[in-house]
Formats: sequence, structure tokens, C-alpha cells
Amino acid sequence: MAYRKPLPVADERSAAYWDGARHRQLMIQRCSACGRWIHYPKATCPACGGTELRPMPVSGRGVVYTFTVSHYLGAPGFEDEVPYVVVLVELEEQEGLRVVGNLRDCSREQLHVGMPVEVLFEDVTPEVTLPQFRPRRA
Ligand code: ZN
Repeated sequence: MAYRKPLPVADERSAAYWDGARHRQLMIQRCSACGRWIHYPKATCPACGGTELRPMPVSGRGVVYTFTVSHYLGAPGFEDEVPYVVVLVELEEQEGLRVVGNLRDCSREQLHVGMPVEVLFEDVTPEVTLPQFRPRRA
């Protein structure tokens, strides 16, 4: 069955994020001048104003910073999935470095702020892979 949910459309700045996902690697922009991690990708570093920003691999590990349980059918394709969990994950590489995704393989009882999670990659079309998260395995 065809994938019906909205798909990301990569632009010049986000292409490395989506290309990385296809290769099973979470890629986050990093400032070459000061080392700060930046997400979402920007044209200049918010810390030092540097313009040499490069996609670099990160661990994919973090903790749930916050989450929401969506019961809302805001777009086609979610009929069989509601309610679903959207998490904002703070990556272990840097305080305040946060990535959004869906949470998989987790019961509502288990879900809590601060829960250790890790990235997983879902191939949703031949061209698109989505980084998502699941409870971290020991
Ligand atoms: Zn910088």
C-alpha cells in the first residue's frame, strides 16, 4: 500500500539530515569554528556567527525532553496510527540540542520525560527514510 503521510522535502540545508537517515546515520549540523551543534540547520552559527557549518554524525542517543500524544488527524495517512506519540529528544551531544520524531516500541505507561531513547530509521518510501526514536536498549 502506498505511503500516504506527508513526506519531508529536503532543501540545501536539510539534505544532509535526510541523506544521513537513508544511510542509517543521524547527521546534525556543527559549527567548524566553535564546535556548537545546531538543529534545525541554519546559515550561521547562533553561538559565534560562524558560517562554516558542516553535517556531522551524532550518536542518536538522548532523552525525552517533552512529548505529546496526538489524537488528531491533521493529514491523510494517520487513520490507523492515532493516537501516536511525538517526542522532542534532547541529544546527548549538547544541552538544548533537540530533534523531533515519533516514538516507537513504547507503552504509554513506560513513556516519561527524561526517558533514555535512541534513534531508529524507518524506510517509508524508496527515497525517504525517517529518523524516529524508541526506548534505549541496554
Ligand atoms: Zn560557532
